[in-house]
Amino acid sequence: MAVHLDTSKCRAYGICVGILPDVFDLPKGSPVAVLRRDVADGEDLEDLEEAVVNCPAQAISLSRPEEAR
Ligand code: SF4
Repeated sequence: MAVHLDTSKCRAYGICVGILPDVFDLPKGSPVAVLRRDVADGEDLEDLEEAVVNCPAQAISLSRPEEAR
């Protein structure tokens, strides 16, 4: 699953970092969260969905990479 972070919406609440610190980070002094990686699968998926739902700014979205066939 590809992870997208809309930095124009992010208000640095840091909730995503609390849920999934492997994927999201909030560097000291940064006005927005950053992605540590933009792909996540397997056991991270549940946490990712939780982060999407819990982001007060709706800044996180997920997309399925093109399924090449
Ligand atoms: S929860 Fe949303 S608003 Fe808060 S830091 Fe993460 S992406 Fe930004």
